[in-house]
Parts: sequence; structure tokens; C-alpha cells
Amino acid sequence: MVTIYWHCLEPTASDEDEKFVAGALDQLAQHLKGKAVKLSISIKRLRDEPKLARKVDETLDRLYDESYTFSECDAAMTHAFFIANLIGETYPAKLLVYCSPDSHIAVAAQRKAPHAKRGATCAFLAAVYSLNSKSTIFHEALHLLGADDCYIEDKPCQKKPDCNFERCIMDYNPAEQWCENWPFICERNIEQLK
Ligand SMILES: [Zn+2]
Ligand SMILES: [Zn+2]
Repeated sequence: MVTIYWHCLEPTASDEDEKFVAGALDQLAQHLKGKAVKLSISIKRLRDEPKLARKVDETLDRLYDESYTFSECDAAMTHAFFIANLIGETYPAKLLVYCSPDSHIAVAAQRKAPHAKRGATCAFLAAVYSLNSKSTIFHEALHLLGADDCYIEDKPCQKKPDCNFERCIMDYNPAEQWCENWPFICERNIEQLK
């Protein structure tokens, strides 16, 4: 069982944001539990986890810090935190944060990867900073689960040759309506998610 925790970063997060993120991730999980992938996945709001709640703020504070670099070691730090605090969790937990485009974490992500205009993922941590974009939530959550980008990093408009699907959500700038029908990822990525 893999768990994706989600959290809306203050100060911009509203009840509507929370509903939007929860709804998108639940919809994604339903598709992934289906027979094509058969993924054992659980979606949880970070704040609802009593074991984590006490220590969540100090970890998330780190994401507000200007020195945050969105690098591997920061992601590893987040991972270590989850391992240390999730008693009985066998598989690593993942964290998806939803935040405003001018938040430090969004700025840090784009400093590292200028083409990452809507969201970014590093190891166990995903940031979605394109508000109200279900396709970005799907794209970054799928990275957390092992999916790869289907565009060439230096030339984002160019599709990787092994992506055989026109409406692949792992493409650059996937369209919102692509989320509504399964499949929304190519066979190559479906195999990686299994
Ligand atoms: Zn991506
Ligand atoms: Zn693809």
C-alpha cells in the first residue's frame, strides 16, 4: 500500500482548495485502483493523521524557508521525517503540497527546473502551484508513484518517442479534460506504475 498525503500550504489555502485537491486525488486513486494498474493506494489529508499532526508544522516550515532548494537532500529530509514518524508504515509515504505560484517552494522548484511552470516533484515530495489544475495534480501525483515525464526536458514541446499516447497526462502542459477519461497515461507509464 502506498500512501499519498496531501496538504494545502497557508496562507492562500481555502476550504475550496482542500475540496479540490482531495477530489482530484481521490479521482486519480479510483482510476489507479482499477484493473489496468491495480495499484494499492491510499490518499490522506496530512492534518488528519494524529501521529504526524504534532510535527507537521516544523517540517512544512522548512518549505517556506528561502533557503529551501527543492533538491534531493531536502526531499530526503522529508522522507526521513515520514519514516521516523509513521509507525508501522512499511512503504515510504509521499507528500503532495498545493501552494500559490509565488510561494517559496514554487520559486525554488522553478529555479531548479525553469520549465516546471505548474508543478514539480523531487523524490517523495511534489509541489503543485498551478491553482485549480487537476491535470497538474494528476501529473505530479503520478510522478510520486513512479511515472516519468513524456516530454524532452530541453524541448518541452517535443514528446518522447516511447510515449505512444496523444492525451498522456505526463506530457508538457496536459489539458484539463484529459483527466476525465481513462486511460490518461501511456502504456509505458502504466507498466511503471504497476
Ligand atoms: Zn513532470
Ligand atoms: Zn506518456
